Amino acid sequence: MVNTAPEWLLLFDIDGTLLRTNGAGRESTRRAMLDVYGTEGNLASFHFGGRTDWQIVLDLLEDSPYSEDEIVARLPLYHDSIAQHLSDLIATFPVEACLGGVETVRALLEQPNVALGLVTGNVASTAPVKLRAAGYDPDWFPVGAYGHEAQVRAALPPLAMQRAAALYQSPFAPERVIVIGDTPADVECARAAGAWAVAVNTGFEAREDLVNAEPDVLLEDLTGFLEVFPRFTAGD
Ligand SMILES: [Mg+2]
Repeated sequence: MVNTAPEWLLLFDIDGTLLRTNGAGRESTRRAMLDVYGTEGNLASFHFGGRTDWQIVLDLLEDSPYSEDEIVARLPLYHDSIAQHLSDLIATFPVEACLGGVETVRALLEQPNVALGLVTGNVASTAPVKLRAAGYDPDWFPVGAYGHEAQVRAALPPLAMQRAAALYQSPFAPERVIVIGDTPADVECARAAGAWAVAVNTGFEAREDLVNAEPDVLLEDLTGFLEVFPRFTAGD
């Protein structure tokens, strides 16, 4: 019997959606900024809000003497530095999975018609560190698109979709892709790719801002996801 490719691709954001690092992300950002750029810029008052790490570094250094080219040229160093710092310090922060996250992902792994992936502003080097600390196995998400690969988040879902198509040797039409995230930027990147957008209110956004972003579904947390997923598959 021939194995059939999964029909659905579910792309999860990390911070505020699957987990909360409760300070570890910010502190590793601070240390990597100091290492690589010699300043943390305006980090103290900065709202990460669904931006890619690429964009975050540019924003933090907005008032610095560095040119954009100089900042971008150092991103590979930042990629390595932040992973090292995060690995060193993460055990000292109360990292936690968002409500229902681990249980929902585990249940989805049992469904043969579903493929899982990541679309995250994190650089690829920090994503697995955060996932492990919160009780997720990074291998549960065999494809991903990361925050060092594009300045703009909207460029990430198409990358993840291409990678999933290559892995499963079958393309995923946008109407078979669901992007799950905690910010208006997650909803926007889903829209740009023609995918469905599920927003979860477990991050750091005002609920009103999520409502105004007009996701297809707004959940208080991931405990509700398995209940709404059949709505998407109802036409099958
Ligand atoms: Mg997020």
